[in-house]
Amino acid sequence: MTEECSDPRAWILDRMSWLEVDEQMQNGMDLVLIPVGSTEQHGPNGTFGVDSGRAEGFVRRLAERLHPRALAVPVMPFGIAPHHMNFPGTLTVEPETFIAVLEDLVDSMYQHGFRKFFFANGHGGNRPAMTLLMGKLRARYPDIDAAWASFTSAASDVIREKVDSFTHGHACEAEISQAMYLAPWSVKEERRPGEVVMSEDEYSRRKYISRAETFDEITQNGALGDATKANWELGREIAEKALDEIEQYLRDF
Ligand SMILES: [Zn+2]
Repeated sequence: MTEECSDPRAWILDRMSWLEVDEQMQNGMDLVLIPVGSTEQHGPNGTFGVDSGRAEGFVRRLAERLHPRALAVPVMPFGIAPHHMNFPGTLTVEPETFIAVLEDLVDSMYQHGFRKFFFANGHGGNRPAMTLLMGKLRARYPDIDAAWASFTSAASDVIREKVDSFTHGHACEAEISQAMYLAPWSVKEERRPGEVVMSEDEYSRRKYISRAETFDEITQNGALGDATKANWELGREIAEKALDEIEQYLRDF
């Protein structure tokens, strides 16, 4: 889904033969990196591929940094997105389905001898299920190491410092910037501001209050934030900071 790395045959599963996987495992490959996305609306500026594209672009870069230890598997493109369903085209799966697919991917790689798994999540709606998945994996496989991160959160200091818009969180300045860097094919050239209908007070309270709501109740065009301020350089800073942090964590994983 993203542009080629220098030698992707060595760390991207769908560019490798089984012989190459076997060879890399003998060469020290012991960590499976699983990108987790969603196929959901991203306002007028982003496509349905923004979350999956960011997650896959992130994981491929991470696998290259961690070579020869890491293997990047294809992205899980279906996430938990019922709150985006009033925008046509959005696909959503039930939390049970989502967890079951990811558990089956781990089980497949477990059968091949892998014991270390890291999930890079690109969609906020998947977070509760990712936490539940970790509990299930620990109970089922006492001998594995598994972890997940919403990788954008690893760069929250950059976002706090550099993102200009008051409201952000979806198809916004921060997210469209990341997409421009990690998956440039997933964004539109034209930029339109978000049509946020909730007040700034209400937005501030979201830090501690979560309501049952659909996205069309808080923004008319599906964007929460101002993607007209998005730029490649900001996307590079956010993504590279998150890559540095997570690479460092996984070095001792
Ligand atoms: Zn998104």
